[in-house]
Amino acid sequence: MATIRFKAIEEVLNRKPVDVTLPSVKTSEYFGENVFDKYKMQEYLSHEAYKNVVESINQGIRIDRKIANQVAIGMKAWAVDRGATHYTHWFHPLNGSTAEKHDAFFEPAEGGGVIENFQGEMLVQQEPDASSFPSGGIRNTFEARGYTAWDPSSPAFVYGNTLCIPTIFVAYTGEALDYKTPLIKSLNFLDKAAVDVCQYFDKDVEKVNVTLGWEQEYFLIDSALYNARPDLYLTGRTLIGHSSAKDQQLSDHYFGSISDRVKNYMVDFEIEAYKLGIPVKTRHNEVAPNQFECAPIFEEANLAVDHNQILMTLMDKVARCHNFRVLFHEKPFKGVNGSGKHNNWSMLTNNGKNLLSPGKTPKNNTQFLTFLINTVKAVHDYSDILRASVAIAGNEHRLGAHEAPPAIMSVFIGSQLSSMLDQLEKRVTNKKMTPDEKTELKLDIGKIPEILLDNTDRNRTSPFAFTGNRFEFRAVGSSANVASPMITLNTVVANQLVQFKKEVDALIEKGIKKDEAIFQILKKYIIASKKIRFEGNGYGEDWIKEAAKRGLSNISDVPEALKAFISKHTKDVFEKSQVLTNRELEARYDIRLEIYTKKIQIEARVLGDLIRNHVIPTLIKYQNILIANVRGLKELYPKDVYEKMAEPQLNTISEISERIAIIKDSVDEMIEARKKANTIENIRDKAPEYSKLVVPYFEKIRYHVDKLELIVDDEIWPFPKYREMLFTR
Ligand code: ADP
Ligand code: MG
Repeated sequence: MATIRFKAIEEVLNRKPVDVTLPSVKTSEYFGENVFDKYKMQEYLSHEAYKNVVESINQGIRIDRKIANQVAIGMKAWAVDRGATHYTHWFHPLNGSTAEKHDAFFEPAEGGGVIENFQGEMLVQQEPDASSFPSGGIRNTFEARGYTAWDPSSPAFVYGNTLCIPTIFVAYTGEALDYKTPLIKSLNFLDKAAVDVCQYFDKDVEKVNVTLGWEQEYFLIDSALYNARPDLYLTGRTLIGHSSAKDQQLSDHYFGSISDRVKNYMVDFEIEAYKLGIPVKTRHNEVAPNQFECAPIFEEANLAVDHNQILMTLMDKVARCHNFRVLFHEKPFKGVNGSGKHNNWSMLTNNGKNLLSPGKTPKNNTQFLTFLINTVKAVHDYSDILRASVAIAGNEHRLGAHEAPPAIMSVFIGSQLSSMLDQLEKRVTNKKMTPDEKTELKLDIGKIPEILLDNTDRNRTSPFAFTGNRFEFRAVGSSANVASPMITLNTVVANQLVQFKKEVDALIEKGIKKDEAIFQILKKYIIASKKIRFEGNGYGEDWIKEAAKRGLSNISDVPEALKAFISKHTKDVFEKSQVLTNRELEARYDIRLEIYTKKIQIEARVLGDLIRNHVIPTLIKYQNILIANVRGLKELYPKDVYEKMAEPQLNTISEISERIAIIKDSVDEMIEARKKANTIENIRDKAPEYSKLVVPYFEKIRYHVDKLELIVDDEIWPFPKYREMLFTR
């Protein structure tokens, strides 16, 4: 086995960077060339069809069947021109990845042969035999029909030889089986709610788009080393492995110069991303060795979500061409930083105003404060479902592990805004303000500087931080589909804005002036949501105590966190807003529990196999070497000399035996715990069993294996070590 390890290391040492052919033209000249965007639509569609599609994009109106046929013909002609032979509906099922089933464009022709064909109905709707996708009981197998339907707001694209058409995926009963359906609903809900609130400040606002800029963290590992680690290729993370003597202590990787091999990889996937219109802009080394980040320029949220999913697929494919494997797991290596996906979120009006950006005038800034405070209030009221929206098995190693945001939801807004809110809280009273007070308040509000963007403290430990002109939700896992936290955030903020409007209007109806009504309600919200605001160090022990005192929840256990999906509080807001029905929430809860349980089950199995088939045999081999040595010494030397000489070996021999006994017993117990958990039918009872009874064995077993890795002859240790995986490139 060790030979596999050494062969892998040798392979890596002999690697040369894979050359990349740079496009001969400027990026702007090929950016989006494989996307059926508005320009190409104009070229390939009739004026009528084009107008219809644009209307449907802007207003969310259904596309007429007749028009769909014209669009299909145009889209196909464009795709064939770009070399496509197949097409697929591309969707986001609830297993967290994306799905595609390719069909050729041609159809059998009458009288034999084939003709190229692609009708409107194939564009607009399909019925994939997709009975194996998770549905949480929404589809029984005998009625397993699911439909995919075109989402014109995200443009079709050609990848390889395939025309990919972004679609939603719903059951024959209309229930959503994907992320996109509720995402679009949540975006529409927020659009409407935000437009209504904007009317207080700016009558010209007709449409509010959510903007999303995600930052994607990832690890790279050479494929030879990856292939020598069954835990990595089966679970995405290392289940054993002692930390490297040097890892990230010196912070010498963060923003360091990027090696040629890695840089070529980045350039290569960026070129592919540009062709698909993904505006990847930033690349840099992250904190942990072999950890990196890429970030695009923000886009409309639905498109940004699609782009993140496409990019993850691209990054994986391109990595293989460079003899790398890209790891999106939240915690592939113990002891060094894990990976997250920061979600930068804001709202943009049709007349170009970022609603979370302070402006030049008091009026603009009242609008800014309104959206800021309502967002804080929404996060306060719905922190549990926000926390649940990012709860996945991999993220459990990250949240609350003193290096990523804690599992406690809190909001950071920076000292300047904090004192602003404190002033508002003190100033505005329920009695009518004097004109002087009003002017003073307005003056103060007018003082929020535009340069806030550069001034906001960069608190990196907050899970939800205001960063000058947007909020950054940092608790999202690196492997996650960002739609899930986005659906939640959009919905709770929209719901909050509706509530705000209702309360302000009620005061106005009572004869209170608009401005004052707004301030009174904002003051109420500032007080009501105060406990969620935290400016200090989110990684510190003190915060855990302080948060408990404030009554904030701190759930690091996935099944426990997921309960928020079906709380009455959650159901009320999602049902009322029609983003997700109760049944859909119940289904999502079950699906996530199911996925969590299966992941833990796989990890437990893999760990058991590694211990029994690799680790213990290696230990025995080494112990035998030591035993032979001790025997030899005994033969050669007089008793008193031998005893002294053999002592260290004898100690190691017993240490190995002692630890083997613990490891072996723990693995047996873990298997028993798993078997017991498996007898439970109901996933809602089974998942907590896995989390409480199986998961604790992982650390216990690993502790002893990692200690043994340090004393066993390096020549026979079967798995690539941390120092090799993190530093050989
Ligand atoms: P940092 O690492 O300092 O947080 P990055 O430049 O890596 O900053 O990422 C910031 C992300 O925030 C980028 O994707 C950027 O496009 C995005 N962003 C900037 N302004 C907005 C906005 N108004 N709405 C949404 N995202 C935004
Ligand atoms: Mg960031």
